[in-house]
Amino acid sequence: MEEKPSRVERPRVESLDEILGQPLDVLDDGFVRVVDYMGADDSIVQAARVSYGKGTKQVHEDRGLIRYLLRHRHTTPFEMCDIKLHVRVPMDCWRQWIRHRTASVNEYSTRYSIAIDAAQETAPGDWRMQAAGNRQGSGGSLEAATGARLTEREAELHALARDVYQERLEHGVAREQARKDLPLATYTEAYWKVNLHNLLHFLRLRMDDHAQLEIRSYARTIGHEIVSRWVPLTWQAFLDYHIGATSLTRLERGVLQAITAGHPDEALRLAESFGLLARGADGLKRNRERAEMEAKLAEFGVEVPWKE
Ligand SMILES: Cc1cc2nc3c(=O)[nH]c(=O)nc-3n(C[C@H](O)[C@H](O)[C@H](O)COP(=O)(O)OP(=O)(O)OC[C@H]3O[C@@H](n4cnc5c(N)ncnc54)[C@H](O)[C@@H]3O)c2cc1C
Repeated sequence: MEEKPSRVERPRVESLDEILGQPLDVLDDGFVRVVDYMGADDSIVQAARVSYGKGTKQVHEDRGLIRYLLRHRHTTPFEMCDIKLHVRVPMDCWRQWIRHRTASVNEYSTRYSIAIDAAQETAPGDWRMQAAGNRQGSGGSLEAATGARLTEREAELHALARDVYQERLEHGVAREQARKDLPLATYTEAYWKVNLHNLLHFLRLRMDDHAQLEIRSYARTIGHEIVSRWVPLTWQAFLDYHIGATSLTRLERGVLQAITAGHPDEALRLAESFGLLARGADGLKRNRERAEMEAKLAEFGVEVPWKE
């Protein structure tokens, strides 16, 4: 351990202080704002160095250490940083958000208060088609005239739901019951406090293309506009080692090694033994794991030795 320091300064991050308390717009009427934060890139380094009794070093060494910690999944130093956000988000999106159990949350209560009089509206060009290949996703947009009609119907529905809600309140119905038919598009607000380790986990899942567009918009705002200012060294490492990285399974590694070593027959044999090449009457049966493998290999310009 180092000698007892006389005084420890609270870490401040100027670039984050610049946007502290400022709402960053998301969707048509949502926002994210930083209410407070604790720690910075330095705090991660400091925590890691306490583990083996060394003090702060040069910036380039700090950068190297942060990158090492993130690459090798040393998680606790990242838990030394906390952030508290105030978010305004449609309830359907919040329903996905709240599944992340490792944050501390206080949400606006529609039992106690009248529900926020705003519901997320969809612009005519923003209606997305059901994806053909992915039951959970969307792909392509509806044509303009249909979109315009659906937006009109949405406005009617929101107005009717709000009227009915208001009428119930006027008759003295309890807020906790009056709210039951409000649309899921109704905005809610919450304080969301989370440490950096869990925030990065949230961002990894919710910035991803597989996440729904709405929550992805929030995650990307938090990542690109907040975390990048708060902990720039960690953010860059996160982009390098998580967001922009591709991981290979043992199966993928085996097939890739066989192909690049010039042994396509061995790659075929392996894929067969892994059960990836089952055939039906119309050729290869659909197989999600094989499709993922093919997509990864295609990323590296590697052709697979099997045919549909
Ligand atoms: C693209 C996508 C699609 C999804 N689709 C669905 C769906 O169809 N249906 C559905 O129900 N959910 C769905 N989810 C939600 C998903 O299953 C997770 O519940 C959500 O992403 C939260 O992840 P998490 O548990 O890792 O995060 P957190 O709750 O923040 O937890 C972080 C980590 O802490 C640990 N942890 C936390 N609590 C526990 C615990 N009680 N026991 C053990 N370990 C714990 C785990 O390691 C966990 O990964 C989807 C999520 C995504 C990103």
